Amino acid sequence: MKPAPFAYLLPSTVDEAAEMLAATGGKVLAGGQSLIPLMSMRLAAPPALVDINRVGGITDIEVGDDAVRVGALVRHAALEAHAPAYDANPLLRRALRHVAHATIRNRGTTVGSIVHADPAGEMPAVLRLLGGSVEAVSQARGRRSIDAADFFVGPLESALGEDEIAVGVVFPRPPAGSGSSWLEISRRRGDYALVGVGAVVTLDSDRNVIGAAVSLISVGATPVHVDVGHVGADSAYDDVDWSGATELVDAAISPEADIHATADYRRHLAQVLTRRALAEATADAAPRVAA
Ligand SMILES: Cc1cc2nc3c(=O)[nH]c(=O)nc-3n(C[C@H](O)[C@H](O)[C@H](O)COP(=O)(O)OP(=O)(O)OC[C@H]3O[C@@H](n4cnc5c(N)ncnc54)[C@H](O)[C@@H]3O)c2cc1C
Repeated sequence: MKPAPFAYLLPSTVDEAAEMLAATGGKVLAGGQSLIPLMSMRLAAPPALVDINRVGGITDIEVGDDAVRVGALVRHAALEAHAPAYDANPLLRRALRHVAHATIRNRGTTVGSIVHADPAGEMPAVLRLLGGSVEAVSQARGRRSIDAADFFVGPLESALGEDEIAVGVVFPRPPAGSGSSWLEISRRRGDYALVGVGAVVTLDSDRNVIGAAVSLISVGATPVHVDVGHVGADSAYDDVDWSGATELVDAAISPEADIHATADYRRHLAQVLTRRALAEATADAAPRVAA
């Protein structure tokens, strides 16, 4: 099928793009890897596309002491390959490797996938796990920052207004002494995950657990974030029993059945992957604590 007719607009600044969005009620076109298929299937029929690919000032990856900031035009592949971003926050690359296939990562943007808010998307869950935020600009409200905890509202639904452009996202660095892991199961490599789990575990200077959290995908309407820090609290990194975390996760998720997996199978995967991801993140944290 072909898309319904639409106007095509090509702004060169963020302000111009915001003005066009407000005037047309159209949608932002970033990498087009999700929007164009939806339009071609006529599941979306925006009156206009505001193509931000020539907008200046939104192309950078900035690695600071506290966070990695990713501009709206940064492709998944560029962030995945960015060595300073990996050094600052290895979880970004660990999760990005599971986003679709290389060709889609070459074009699709990390900010676009976060705005798209697919509950099966990896990067929304990573943003939620790290306590990140989305920077938005609109003609009516100017600039604002939306916390990840408030951003994901439902499947393909976010707190971003229809007239707002996400100009970037901020992934805070985990505290010193933290390790991370991303694990998922999909039917074929590159497919959306049946279930995916990201974990961050933080150790103190004696290598005892002082914090832990997981975020899961494909088991709810939004990324499911669960703080499991008290399960491992004060346990030594090599003696921690994460099995209590699986009960917390089981209570928090609401997986559904589809042609790929039953709800029960997803529930089982969520438990197994949670345990493994926490163990992997704990092992990743240990060498990061100076002996
Ligand atoms: C075959 C296939 C497999 C895939 N597998 C996965 C997967 O396993 N995991 C995964 O996470 N993703 C997957 N994707 C989606 C991919 O990651 C997309 O790149 C991503 O979802 C959207 O990014 P985009 O830049 O292409 O956005 P677009 O398709 O251009 O836009 C998507 C939506 O976000 C809005 N939008 C985009 N950028 C902005 C912005 N800056 N401000 C405001 N609104 C904006 C658009 O208006 C649109 O509604 C897959 C896609 C395909 C085609």
